[in-house]
Amino acid sequence: MIKPETKKKYYKALIDKNPEYEGVFFVGVTTTGVFCRPTCPARKPKFENCEFYETAEQALLASFRPCKRCRPLSHPQSCLKTYPNTGRRCRKEPRETVER
Ligand SMILES: [Zn+2]
Repeated sequence: MIKPETKKKYYKALIDKNPEYEGVFFVGVTTTGVFCRPTCPARKPKFENCEFYETAEQALLASFRPCKRCRPLSHPQSCLKTYPNTGRRCRKEPRETVER
């Protein structure tokens, strides 16, 4: 699951057509049933109509169709180096230090 604050970040990247997020996420538009790359030239959907996915496969599995303008399937995840979450795996374990 993508966290709400991450979705906001992705949405901003979508509005900005930020190329750094190319391959980081895909956006499915619930009103059209189509999913796009962040840099798609099509008009941007409203936030509440966006579903974010981190792979094209996930968007496909959620029964979105690939956009004909940005062709999300023809653009493999080529920018993994900019993946913002890599190496920051938050593994918070709310374990209290109770030693016996
Ligand atoms: Zn598109």
